[in-house]
Amino acid sequence: MVDRSQPVSRRGLFGALVRPFTRHLKERPVAHPEEIPDADTPRVAIIQGRFCLAYQGGVCFTCSERCPEPGAITTQQGIPTIHADLCTGCGICHDLCPAPVNAILVKAKPPTQTTEPSEPS
Ligand code: SF4
Ligand code: SF4
Repeated sequence: MVDRSQPVSRRGLFGALVRPFTRHLKERPVAHPEEIPDADTPRVAIIQGRFCLAYQGGVCFTCSERCPEPGAITTQQGIPTIHADLCTGCGICHDLCPAPVNAILVKAKPPTQTTEPSEPS
């Protein structure tokens, strides 16, 4: 039963309005379910091309537009590439990737790794 005597906060109202459109972001599977290393571990993001909307002929710039590290994700003809030497592994791109199966993995960065090519489709 909804208590209509209590005022509705702006945040609560906004959450109720967007929930139907964002529910899938939390519930969808990732490409290869696995633990994301903790924040103390050097990490790097990797794009799984077969799940990426851009790799599959769609249009998506979410990861490249929202990455906070300049140059960590570049695009060429709409196709994103993550540069492991600039990626901090913050996971923002992973959290925001809108693909039906999350196309971005965050993994422990190998100690000697300097570049991380994206997987071709
Ligand atoms: S956000 Fe996801 S689907 Fe979009 S371009 Fe990046 S990896 Fe591909
Ligand atoms: S993990 Fe963070 S720094 Fe690395 S590509 Fe994604 S958003 Fe950019």
